Amino acid sequence: MNYCQYCAAPLVLKIPEGEDRERYCCEECDTVFYQNPKNVVGTLPVYQDKVLLCRRAIEPRYGKWTLPAGFMENGETCIEGAIRETAEEAGAKVHVKEDSLYTLTSYKHINQVHFYFRVELASLDFAPGIESLEARLFRESEIPWDHIAFTVVNITLKHYFKDCKNQHFPVRMFDVTYSNKKIKRTLVSES
Ligand SMILES: [Zn+2]
Repeated sequence: MNYCQYCAAPLVLKIPEGEDRERYCCEECDTVFYQNPKNVVGTLPVYQDKVLLCRRAIEPRYGKWTLPAGFMENGETCIEGAIRETAEEAGAKVHVKEDSLYTLTSYKHINQVHFYFRVELASLDFAPGIESLEARLFRESEIPWDHIAFTVVNITLKHYFKDCKNQHFPVRMFDVTYSNKKIKRTLVSES
């Protein structure tokens, strides 16, 4: 962020009066530009004993398998964003139940929060979108565990298959931190 979007003056990184951290500030028109975490929203689409995964056609992790997910857009809710991403990446329509919220992960070092929802495929009419090479249903025994794109997807899938055996799907919240070149993931809430 270099210039003020209102008056085009150069921005200065400083602590505004009464605050406790640096912000980009315009000294011409006194606007403070706040930067806050972004939400990533996605689904765990289920059909009978299978889940739908997409193989990424984009970097990062090109060619790896993932759950449909992406950045939430302005003007939509979490669940609307997750449904949209599922349609875009897997060409899939889904049913959402009341207890769909499944995992919530805060990434302190990249300023993101990821939400995954359990949903049911409305039909077997799905097809990869432009960001996917393939979209395919997998049973637990067929999951390509060594080729999953992101740890959050791996963990969400592992918990899902374990929860299926208990027929209980608690909402889990994880905190992910990065220090001394080590990623640490902590389960901070399960209900
Ligand atoms: Zn300005």
